[in-house]
Amino acid sequence: MSTNHDLVITGARVVTPDGVHDGGVAVSGERIATIFAAGSAPTGERTIDAGGRYLLPGLIDSHVHFRTPGLTHKEDWAHGSRAAAAGGVTTVIDMPNTEPPLVEPEAAADKAALVAGHSLVDYRFHMGVTVDSVENLRRLEPRQATTVKVFMTGHHTAPNIIRDPVVLDRIFAIAAEHGIRLVLHAEDDGVFSLIDESQEPPAGYDAYESAHPRSGGIVASSRVIDLVRKYGTAAHILHVSSSEESDMLKAANRIGLPITYEVTPHHLSFSAPDTQRLGARIRLRPAIRCLKDQGRLWEAVMDGGVATIGSDHAPHTKEEKVLAVADAPPGLPGTQEMLLALHTGMRRRYPEMPQDEVMVRIARVAAERPAELFGLTARKGRIAVGLDADFSVFDPDTTWIMSAEHAQAKVGWSAYEGWTFTGRPELTVRRGEIVYDGREETPRFGTPTGIWLDAERPVLPDPVPSEHATAVPPPPPAQPRAAESAADTDRVRL
Ligand SMILES: [Zn+2]
Repeated sequence: MSTNHDLVITGARVVTPDGVHDGGVAVSGERIATIFAAGSAPTGERTIDAGGRYLLPGLIDSHVHFRTPGLTHKEDWAHGSRAAAAGGVTTVIDMPNTEPPLVEPEAAADKAALVAGHSLVDYRFHMGVTVDSVENLRRLEPRQATTVKVFMTGHHTAPNIIRDPVVLDRIFAIAAEHGIRLVLHAEDDGVFSLIDESQEPPAGYDAYESAHPRSGGIVASSRVIDLVRKYGTAAHILHVSSSEESDMLKAANRIGLPITYEVTPHHLSFSAPDTQRLGARIRLRPAIRCLKDQGRLWEAVMDGGVATIGSDHAPHTKEEKVLAVADAPPGLPGTQEMLLALHTGMRRRYPEMPQDEVMVRIARVAAERPAELFGLTARKGRIAVGLDADFSVFDPDTTWIMSAEHAQAKVGWSAYEGWTFTGRPELTVRRGEIVYDGREETPRFGTPTGIWLDAERPVLPDPVPSEHATAVPPPPPAQPRAAESAADTDRVRL
């Protein structure tokens, strides 16, 4: 091979969808130019010997709250993207519940302009929807977003909660017509309101779970399944927390409904007894549940029921997190810890599993499947020739104790302080540039040249033509869209 590449990684265990191979990759510009076998490395401007460590595809964290605009006292893109890069993440998809929330399709470009020059990692946005902005979904272009986040519960004063079943119906109908995937916080607000009206707010964190019980998630997930049956809408349910929801959604997926679901590292890592010690740090929505649920969620990760792992990186300041139980806001930083928690958990729970298989499974749920669901397969999600050179060099055997000084999130704390992690990303490369180098005592970060990615419109099942179709407002006169025919030939597996 005569070409001189920009960056060559040698001595690696390269993690690809069809297994792990000894060798390395050569990067030209922003893309992977070659994957080579051990002993046949091409020359490069810069060569890094991975020393037998894994080359893991750059993770896609499809669930982050980087809090821009309006809430930047909690997090911003400089810190959030450093946390991501330090955790082997090279692409994030940011949530719309900012101030103001992202609900106008045209505002996606304005948000991208705010982020430009601040992010180490590449990014996309989930669009938001409020009761008053439902019609906006009809003009949403794939460039702006291919996904819409629906909050079925949330803070009582939040304007973006969809409580009215008629409105929810309309959102599902329009999403099906326009090829939009819904991503949902599926807990039933009615269930929680009923409990709130009937009892005093919980005095301690140990009572928090029973005030935000699994029944909220079960009721809402069941409604989502009904709506998907009715309209054929593609729905991805976020942060599933209970065994009942996981089992039900897995069954819905396996009978062919276009339903998938996400599990977070914190629901895989913490269970109810931890609330005694960690208090508000793990006051979350959905709540942390019991050990049985945690075990069942792990099973669903391992049997392919869970489609994606997303961090739900949603930081709040220490000052906010020491408020009284009823006032401390739910959420924690997590994008940096996602790979660490997933790898450590898998190693401990499945000690007999070959290390190569652990890595392939992590790549599947945290890179490959998110790329498929969110229209990014043309450039992200796998280590493959022609795709973006996004990867981390991962040491699977180092054990170390996480402390606050490791935390890159702006709020400077982690729910995992004191945890012994197994494994550590040493180097993260995004489109050929080193964005994180943790090989020395003090980590170094690259330049914030992350870009707003384009995405293919995920091709979704045909909307269900049924007697129900008359139950929703008729769509406006059909406007042919250029993107549609291209999308038809570019089917994304659900
Ligand atoms: Zn979230």
